[in-house]
Amino acid sequence: MKLPDFLQFSPFNDLKERMQVTKLGHFELFDPRFHLTGIERSDLDRLGIMVHLSDIHHLLDFTLVFKNSRIWLEDGLVYHLAQCDELKKSLQSCKIGTSERALTTGTSVCPSCLQKLQYKGYDAYKARKENYSRQVLDSFSLTGYWEQYHQYPVSEKREMRKSLV
Ligand SMILES: [Zn+2]
Repeated sequence: MKLPDFLQFSPFNDLKERMQVTKLGHFELFDPRFHLTGIERSDLDRLGIMVHLSDIHHLLDFTLVFKNSRIWLEDGLVYHLAQCDELKKSLQSCKIGTSERALTTGTSVCPSCLQKLQYKGYDAYKARKENYSRQVLDSFSLTGYWEQYHQYPVSEKREMRKSLV
């Protein structure tokens, strides 16, 4: 079947004109390999989900991503936000999520991730910044983090991300 060229299709062009559309929209075909489903998004927010470490990538800014969303990843008593030196590559399956409520009780943000991201100027190696860095760590909230690092959607482009394992 041959589809008409909709750019030359006058009923649509008339409609576009009436709607004062000047630019063509952008449409991304949904692919569950690279895009979160509605259920996955909801589970990441409500409970967290278990994935294999090989399903996690990091973006060029080192933040961790699963498909087209930034995420946290639990690793013992800490949760990672970035590809830091403390992240155990030996982890097989791990719990990931996007909200405070999905975190296991008692886990706290990984200081090494804050260092890697230089989050709000965090630098545990500079003695003169010791108090300041302690404050950044103590007052860390995921809400603040998502304000700085857009959670969803992020580019699913392959060249923008690197594998963790
Ligand atoms: Zn970390």
